[in-house]
Amino acid sequence: MKEKKPKKTVQAEKREQAMIEGIIEGSPDGIGVVVVRLECGCRKMAAVSKEGDPASEIIMYRDQAQNICAKCKEDNGSFMRTKESFIHWVEPAPSEEKQKEISLKVLGSVTAH
Ligand SMILES: [Zn+2]
Repeated sequence: MKEKKPKKTVQAEKREQAMIEGIIEGSPDGIGVVVVRLECGCRKMAAVSKEGDPASEIIMYRDQAQNICAKCKEDNGSFMRTKESFIHWVEPAPSEEKQKEISLKVLGSVTAH
């Protein structure tokens, strides 16, 4: 396997990483965790199965806050307000082709840049 320099990969932040690990632990079918960063600063996460279906409940949280913001409470963290989104793959990550397939299914046309 040759190492390719990623163009612009969004990396999970430390706090997100901890959440991701928790989600994966509770989702035996999960092969990755979808991370959605909303414009307001809240996060939305859910495990995804190898078919690209949800493999856990959707978890929402906000850094350094007890609750998600008022806006998210209202619209449940609408995807319209997505700042960036990506999938954190469980090692070993699926093939690039499969990653693309699942990303497309889960994130649709929403891209992270
Ligand atoms: Zn929010």
